[in-house]
Amino acid sequence: MQEIKLYAMTCGWITMPAGFFLAGQTGNLAVPVPCYFIEHPKGTILFDTGLETALQSDNADIVKEALGIFAKITTVQYQPGEDITSRLEKFGIDPKKINFIINSHLHFDHCGGNVAAPNARWIIQKREWQAAQKDENIEKQIYSPHHYDLGHDRIEVDGEYDVFQDGTIILIPTYGHTDGHQSLKVKLGDQTIILTADACYLKHSLENMTLPDAMVVNDPESMINNFKLFKKLQDKGAKIVFGHDPKQASTLTDGEIKRIYANDL
Ligand SMILES: [Zn+2]
Repeated sequence: MQEIKLYAMTCGWITMPAGFFLAGQTGNLAVPVPCYFIEHPKGTILFDTGLETALQSDNADIVKEALGIFAKITTVQYQPGEDITSRLEKFGIDPKKINFIINSHLHFDHCGGNVAAPNARWIIQKREWQAAQKDENIEKQIYSPHHYDLGHDRIEVDGEYDVFQDGTIILIPTYGHTDGHQSLKVKLGDQTIILTADACYLKHSLENMTLPDAMVVNDPESMINNFKLFKKLQDKGAKIVFGHDPKQASTLTDGEIKRIYANDL
């Protein structure tokens, strides 16, 4: 069987209040926006697609408009060449030929690049899709449909889902950050990689079981249960790749994640 390959890409950085990542912290924290590309003999997958390209604009008004309610508390470091299309093209991959998009959830820094892969089938937790259609969530700009409501052929899943039915690429429900958040388990040979996405922002989050500030947590109990699950998997030898960890991202990007083996995460 052809080998499965996992690529990590950093598609810009965002700076937000540190408490959004770790409860009780003050000041701001700059974090990477990671996206992943998987090659599997049965198809190609994007796991999260990063920020919309409008955020690369030199025009402050366009950036402000794109950030919406987050504009007051967010700055973006995002240059042309750092979006998902450019990153993939550097690997020689045409995003229009990608088979699947999987979004961990539908916040602006995770699905802003869905438009880049118009021919992909889209795998999303049913609960997340439902939350992202609620008028009140759209009015509060927690979700912005122009990022994800693009007519992709949608596969709604409910809980764990084995993408190719061979145990190598498995979606894990990690509800808590949002209603229908999911993480991804990838088997690379005898190595298991867990892409937590926003179920666990930082290495520090897991080590200290520290949630973000309450205002950005949908369900704290579920989030703690997710941490426990990640610790259990880690104890069994899985490598945990955190959602927005600045230090870890620098050891992973940009390229094949195999180098993860050489790094102590
Ligand atoms: Zn995020």
